[in-house]
Amino acid sequence: MRDGDTIVALSSGSVPAGVAVIRLSGPATRDLLLSLAGDLPPPRRLSMRTLRDGEEVLDRGLVAWFPGPRSFTGEDSAELQLHGSPAVVRAILRALTSRARVRLAEAGEFTRRAFENGRLDLTAVEGLGDLIAAETENQRRQALARAAGGLSDRVAHWRSDLVHLRAEIEARLDFSDEGDVGLDLPPRVAVSLEALRAELAEALSNFGRGRIVRDGLRVALAGPPNVGKSSLLNALARSELAIVSDEPGTTRDVREVAMDLGGQLVLLVDMAGLRQAESKAEAEGVRRAEREVAQADLVLWLTAPDVPAQEPPASPGEIWRIASKSDLARGEEALAISSRTGAGIGELLERLTAFAQTRGGGGEAPLLSRERDREAIAAALEALDGAAEALGQAEVAAELLRQASHSLARLIGAVDAEAVLDRLFLSFCIGK
Ligand code: GDP
Repeated sequence: MRDGDTIVALSSGSVPAGVAVIRLSGPATRDLLLSLAGDLPPPRRLSMRTLRDGEEVLDRGLVAWFPGPRSFTGEDSAELQLHGSPAVVRAILRALTSRARVRLAEAGEFTRRAFENGRLDLTAVEGLGDLIAAETENQRRQALARAAGGLSDRVAHWRSDLVHLRAEIEARLDFSDEGDVGLDLPPRVAVSLEALRAELAEALSNFGRGRIVRDGLRVALAGPPNVGKSSLLNALARSELAIVSDEPGTTRDVREVAMDLGGQLVLLVDMAGLRQAESKAEAEGVRRAEREVAQADLVLWLTAPDVPAQEPPASPGEIWRIASKSDLARGEEALAISSRTGAGIGELLERLTAFAQTRGGGGEAPLLSRERDREAIAAALEALDGAAEALGQAEVAAELLRQASHSLARLIGAVDAEAVLDRLFLSFCIGK
């Protein structure tokens, strides 16, 4: 990033559109507004202005001026609401970037500036990324809570508890020559430490639910070849609940259909690789299928009247047995479906919706949702467990508490944030 540049970008969706929003941030924002709008509108209000490049009128639109540091990025910034035509947007962007040290923003650059200026911590930046990508109600709630500092606040509270605990222990260290002052620790130290451990353990125990809300409940369609897995996936993909997604990730061996079931993202995975296992490539397909089953939160194990029955593989998730091709003959399984006639598909979707709600959403969104969160909290908890055991050795306990603090500092990006941010902003759009 070139410091001191002013960045501009189209922040709304693609044009043409009813309205296009162009964002500006950086030290030249004030001058750019003055020359474009003729004056500096009152801060944090929408004001109608005619926008000009010299004598040429480019558009009439709404201008909002956000002087720093009370702005999203913490810098002087502004938003222009324009008529959403390609020509208007091009003309305004050209007028803006013709100035020295004014350039188009890179992906995620507004948010990076907000982070660098201390307006958002790393978890809030991630929450913002999740919010922009949110497709389901549960994802929206979860991301909004994170973006608004839900996790940041809890981590701040935990870090402050740790600071107090360390102070209690280190104060006694200063007065000891042997470091064996543990016995002098007031009981409140062990009590606070235990309370902190319980809070972290509670947050960690809800990670599974948070992960399912964010990444989706993984449902594997499995069973021997020809039981009707692909047909079922196709039938479900035609349902109005299927989320049309242009994301890649659909490989030849594993097909995935995303669905919004009662506000919860559910990923149905069909493993074509299970079909034949003759060639080397197919053997790889089988391995992938086995991996999918091993990662699934739920396995739908299909049987069919015209296919010899098989027992489902071991899976850490729940397994539902489903009688497929019920139009040929009614199987014995509790749930029978026919992809050909559509019989039973509605009931299957209802059951899946209920299951997804119990495993994912419903209630307050869990604080932790990313693998990064889990690792940081698990590491902090491990250090706290060690500290609780080592309270008799004050120096060891103090060092373990410091390690716990460090894990929490990493989580909010107070240390080592760059690598996470670089990866995160790859998924951000320009103008965010
Ligand atoms: P997969 O190998 O498990 O994915 O099975 P497919 O979905 O490819 O289906 C295997 C065969 O069974 C195909 O010929 C399908 O047309 C047929 N089939 C799939 N579902 C049904 C169904 O509900 N009823 C009937 N009668 N045939 C089906």
